Amino acid sequence: MTPTPATLDNAPLAQLKGVGPSMVQRLARLGLHTLPDLLFHLPLRYQDRTRIMPIGSLRPGNEITIRGEVQLTDIKSGRRRMLLSRIADGSGAITLRFFYFSAAQRASLARGCWVQCFGEVRAGPSGLEMVHPEYHLIDSAADGPQEETLTPVYPTTEGLRQQTLRKLIGQLLNDPAQLAGCLPELLPAELPAQRQMPTLHEAILYVHRPPADASLRELEEGIHPAQQRLAFEELLAHQLSLRQLRERQDRHAAPPLRATHTLQRPFLDNLGFQLTSAQQRVLNEISHDLARPQPMQRLVQGDVGCGKTVIAALAALQALEAGFQIAIMAPTELLAEQHRHNFSQWLEPLGMTPYWLSGKRKGKAREQTLAAIGDGSARLTVGTQALFQEGVEFHNLGLVIIDEQHRFGVHQRLALREKGARDGRYPHQLIMTATPIPRTLAQTAYADLDVSVIDELPPGRIPVDTVVIADDRRDAVVTRVHAACREGRQAYWVCTLIEESETLQCETAQDTAETLHTALPDLRVGLVHGRLKATEKEAMMAHFKAGDIDLLVATTVIEVGVDVPNASLMIIENAERLGLSQLHQLRGRVGRGSAKSSCVLLYKPPLSKTARQRLATLRETNDGFEVARKDLELRGPGELLGTRQTGLLELRIADLQRDQALIPAISQCAGHLLREHPGQVAPLIRRWLGDGLRYGNV
Ligand code: ADP
Ligand code: MG
Repeated sequence: MTPTPATLDNAPLAQLKGVGPSMVQRLARLGLHTLPDLLFHLPLRYQDRTRIMPIGSLRPGNEITIRGEVQLTDIKSGRRRMLLSRIADGSGAITLRFFYFSAAQRASLARGCWVQCFGEVRAGPSGLEMVHPEYHLIDSAADGPQEETLTPVYPTTEGLRQQTLRKLIGQLLNDPAQLAGCLPELLPAELPAQRQMPTLHEAILYVHRPPADASLRELEEGIHPAQQRLAFEELLAHQLSLRQLRERQDRHAAPPLRATHTLQRPFLDNLGFQLTSAQQRVLNEISHDLARPQPMQRLVQGDVGCGKTVIAALAALQALEAGFQIAIMAPTELLAEQHRHNFSQWLEPLGMTPYWLSGKRKGKAREQTLAAIGDGSARLTVGTQALFQEGVEFHNLGLVIIDEQHRFGVHQRLALREKGARDGRYPHQLIMTATPIPRTLAQTAYADLDVSVIDELPPGRIPVDTVVIADDRRDAVVTRVHAACREGRQAYWVCTLIEESETLQCETAQDTAETLHTALPDLRVGLVHGRLKATEKEAMMAHFKAGDIDLLVATTVIEVGVDVPNASLMIIENAERLGLSQLHQLRGRVGRGSAKSSCVLLYKPPLSKTARQRLATLRETNDGFEVARKDLELRGPGELLGTRQTGLLELRIADLQRDQALIPAISQCAGHLLREHPGQVAPLIRRWLGDGLRYGNV
């Protein structure tokens, strides 16, 4: 390695010319504190101010520079006063439109003057125009400032002009010694050459000042080698931070929970079916982890209906056999209730009763539960996030099971881990998700977890037959529901809404239930939504499960976990508005029994091309991994992982979808750095994630 110049890692921005205390504050709002921070503040996009375009060649949407002679400047009065100035360059004419202007401005744009303008061209009421362009007066058609490089547009904040940011970053770029001090190369020296990547120094210079002939298309798509070099490093930093976190976890102690099979065996005997070989394999992995004196951190992925809950139960039994407490957490009350119900059925024959804790459990009942959790008499507790709130102290928590993990972010996962720790011992963690994440994404998003995959469905499952139908053929769908229910089948009617408002969603479900009730008076119609009391929801689900209800109208509260094998028809409204994985998840509520099941996706026409494609994916495949892959392609990882997960994936330049191909090399590089150059790890993480985002500190 070349001798490193004096490092400017922590050099404050106040060192720059023009940065006083108030500027320091404004920059801090963008998370910029040090000189290197400023260099890693990367452009969102670029403008081309290197060329003057003939006015006659302009098209709406162009963002360009033009020069022209003022032909006429006038104030137009009316509902809104504005200044209009007509300029021409021989090839054509265009209007400049200003809503805010001064008398001096009006006077300066006098007939016969030359101006140079930069702005976006749009189609106006009388031909092309620019609204509030940047402009200068120039002496002649051949005069005026011209940029030599493309102009970066940065993310900024109120009170901080693009111009100011450009100048500050420019100061650093113009000073070779400072620049070198800010950009120590942290990747292994041979890597850039091996992968034919530019050096960090070259990449940073390029992205802040792309030459006039750079490909705007490449830059806009983020695929220029300079951007890819930075994306590589950014994803590497994320991966390192998670792996480091994992290593730290591995140094913690956990109670070894050895299987004695005293509970597992009778449980399996009563189950009424054999585990699939995928379930057996994953169970072995879990069982092995639990017996170790380090906390298990395992994610079990498996498509809806593959039988994750049984595996969770077997893990719980192993912990019970070893004499430790178990907490099972689900993201919604409804799902938690479902688990409580299942676990009661499984545990009661073994002489145990699960405890229950949700946010709605108050007063005396809550106190009693807390006391039982505290003295250890609550061996297994099912609940929502309330399980890990203030005031809940476990006696000897050995295992935490989190279902449907995509609803919880990495921070919450870590907070849970801390919460369960006692006397320096941490509980094991088992996380279950039915949103299968493509491997490359999992490697980045879940680099701190071991991943098991249940890649097989129980035998005899018949794929759900999915059809896509326009909402104006609703009557035909209602008739179909009627016929199915008359044959003794049960159906779900799922109401979804555009707005995130739970109230509106519930009202819609109520209206729909009434309409269907009127249309189908001989059917027993039930209704379940998020605003019902826990006991009401539970009662409604129990009725449905018992077959006392034919048609259950529901909001997306039934998205996860609900298990009613006799239900074999599902109608989903506004399907075009939901994510593919969510639709797949919902659809997974049917097809759980031996009857052929169907799912009707209702949409409001007209469908956009992407929407049509997305719905077609569901018609064509029943494989959750395939659905997730398509979803990732069409909507990006933020949506797939759920909004709460995005904290982890707030990437500056990388894009998990676009840059997937880099991930295997990044994983390899991360391993190499951790082994051979551990000193580079912390600076890399600090460079890209800053100090605020340290998962390890949680
Ligand atoms: P998931 O949580 O993965 O969506 P569940 O655990 O709810 O799936 O299982 C779905 C249904 O399949 C349940 O009714 C469960 O009892 C049943 N099941 C699980 N494993 C098997 C198996 N190996 N053979 C037959 N049925 C199974
Ligand atoms: Mg489940």
